[in-house]
Amino acid sequence: MDALPLTPGELVCLGSSLAFSGLFYYLHRKKAKVVAKIQEAPKLQVSESLPDILSATGSSCLQYVAIEGVVQPTEAALTSPYHNELQGVIERLVLKEHRLIWNSLARSWTDSERVVLEQVHTVPFVLASPAGRSVGQVSVESPLQAVELPLETVYERFQQTSHGFKDLLGHYLSGEKPKGFLETEEMLLVGSSLTGIGELTMQPDGSLRLQPPADGTGYFLHLGDWQALLADMQSVSNFWKWAALLCGFVGTAVILRALFRAYWDYRLRKEQEAQQQEFEKLRCQRSSDLDLSDEPPESACVICLTNLRECVLLPCGHVCCCFRCFQALPSRTCPICRSPIDRVVPLYQA
Ligand SMILES: [Zn+2]
Ligand SMILES: [Zn+2]
Repeated sequence: MDALPLTPGELVCLGSSLAFSGLFYYLHRKKAKVVAKIQEAPKLQVSESLPDILSATGSSCLQYVAIEGVVQPTEAALTSPYHNELQGVIERLVLKEHRLIWNSLARSWTDSERVVLEQVHTVPFVLASPAGRSVGQVSVESPLQAVELPLETVYERFQQTSHGFKDLLGHYLSGEKPKGFLETEEMLLVGSSLTGIGELTMQPDGSLRLQPPADGTGYFLHLGDWQALLADMQSVSNFWKWAALLCGFVGTAVILRALFRAYWDYRLRKEQEAQQQEFEKLRCQRSSDLDLSDEPPESACVICLTNLRECVLLPCGHVCCCFRCFQALPSRTCPICRSPIDRVVPLYQA
């Protein structure tokens, strides 16, 4: 059989499905590794026995731990400009502009947003024991390096832009319509329960510190317990696994389709070869039986007027051409009655 005959479209489909499958599998493996590391990591609560646990391991550093505690600032906390009673240790203010853009292909207006302003403020904070600050604390270093900031939305306001008639005309001409501005404030509030997953080290002064792992493993700060974080990570990992499987399935389907087509082409070619051999045999027999004169015989092919008619075209039943002319027909229709040819059989004369 020849090399796998793939059309350019199939080749593009196969290449992209294999590439995406590989990429999604890589993302799945990456997430699965993090999930395994979180599962293996010791799970600790902030308490006064934490330094003893650390010194029992014989080193001043635990490479990957999940530690749960309550957020407490070490200096003056940040106060929300919108709700004076809310205090936090991380604050993110975002101003987004929402506008409608005319999509000439879809013939409709589509939403689009643009971040106009983003500010992140933070103050040093610790994870304290729910029982009180006096029974141990772990300072959280570089919180902005966490995979995702553990923030909750405390303020949201959408300010609509008002338009005059002139503006409306301008919008239709330019294809852009401002909708308004969305102001949001997100905070990590003082007193929230937080799970930190990272490297736990003991400083020479005996204080504990949670920091991004030196080996580059994900540094997580998550509102809620570690099981919730693990479930989130597992669902993302599974999503990439199914996406990889789906792309792999598409690639396999393309290969199977090409193989199936190649098999049918091969069978057709074999059938044609067998047919040709049958006609060749018939021609040899006839040429030995007949003495062909220079004049075209009455039973000469209507196309080349040279060879003998040797094909019975089915289903119309016309006997009008030689096998070579039958093969050279531009379309599989009878040259006499134009009806489609399903099958051709050699003409045997007694
Ligand atoms: Zn002919
Ligand atoms: Zn016919």
